[in-house]
Amino acid sequence: MSTREVILTGDTPTGQLHLGHYVGSVKRRVELQDTHDCFFLLANLHAYTTRADHPNEIHTDTLEIVRDYLAMGIDPEKAAITLQSEVPAILELTFLFAMLLPFNRVMRNPTLKDEIKVKGLGDNYSFGFPLYAVGQTADILAFRAHAVPVGEDQVPHIELTREVARRFNKLYCGIDENVEDDDPIMEEQGVFPIPKADVGKVGRLVGTDGVQKMSKSLNNAILITDTPKKVKKKLGQLYTGRQSMTDPGDPDSALMDYVDIFITCEERKAELKGKYVRGDNIGDGHIKVEVAEAISELLAPMQERRAQYEGDDDTIIDIIKEGTARANAKTEETLAMAKEASGLKFFSRELAFTGAPV
Ligand code: ATP
Ligand code: MG
Repeated sequence: MSTREVILTGDTPTGQLHLGHYVGSVKRRVELQDTHDCFFLLANLHAYTTRADHPNEIHTDTLEIVRDYLAMGIDPEKAAITLQSEVPAILELTFLFAMLLPFNRVMRNPTLKDEIKVKGLGDNYSFGFPLYAVGQTADILAFRAHAVPVGEDQVPHIELTREVARRFNKLYCGIDENVEDDDPIMEEQGVFPIPKADVGKVGRLVGTDGVQKMSKSLNNAILITDTPKKVKKKLGQLYTGRQSMTDPGDPDSALMDYVDIFITCEERKAELKGKYVRGDNIGDGHIKVEVAEAISELLAPMQERRAQYEGDDDTIIDIIKEGTARANAKTEETLAMAKEASGLKFFSRELAFTGAPV
């Protein structure tokens, strides 16, 4: 059995992946896949929280996300690309964990509140919408993950997950509540290690509206598949509020974040930032064009890799099938441990995951 630390993270198929995913999470995953046991979850069930009326789109987006993964450098030989809806242990643990979390605690989750507001859900969201926050604790704990590479917005979800893990280990494994989270006993005597959020250098990439987080569902994203022309156009819309080339610019503006993140030459970066802040005859438009070119340079090799998988759903499905089989081996083991600890074990069970059509 592998003794490497386990990484779990994932994406909801509510659209294609964008630059925010790359800088906020996927870039880090590509590094981690060499040294850790990585599982990357296609959270297709969670997409039904807001798009239950669009099953075909969810289906297509799930496959497109895999293409984006491959484009960005995720290697299915190293990391298990996993389809959430075919990992039954996750759903079983969701039900159990829902009993360990007070309802009000779930509803206090700031990311959930924010999503309700930003996505304009009002009070018309489904019962499953807040349940997805509980589901996400199960996504992570089913793999007994040690770390979760995510953007900043996900930190409250990881905090909720840590609470569930601690509560479970205390209630059902007799671990004293004063035991530190990183004490090895947590994993030796408990079922779940307490997972950490691994927030990359860019925890939150602002979208091309210059205000909100770049997000699949907010129409403010530069997609991995965007052509140079599209990138230039989208970036051209980035609002800065600056009036003229001689106005001193705000060093903390979204535009300067983009310069920081995407201009790779350190000298040029410092020069652009210096001129902008001083208002030294440099227009926003000029900077945007330069950033757009840098972004397209980053995307070009990804788009080339992605093109190899265009129109070939069979290969993509084989990759998911293989990754999901590995995920089921791991999560069935966790489920058996969790059932034994919590009084749910009456006999052993073995599920065969063949991926054969019924
Ligand atoms: P949705 O609008 O459907 O919530 P999303 O664009 O927020 O989509 P998710 O699938 O919710 O994408 O997020 C997947 C991962 O990518 C998470 O770890 C999240 O923190 C990270 N991420 C998403 N957008 C950004 C961003 N703009 N900057 C940094 N990280 C991000
Ligand atoms: Mg999101």
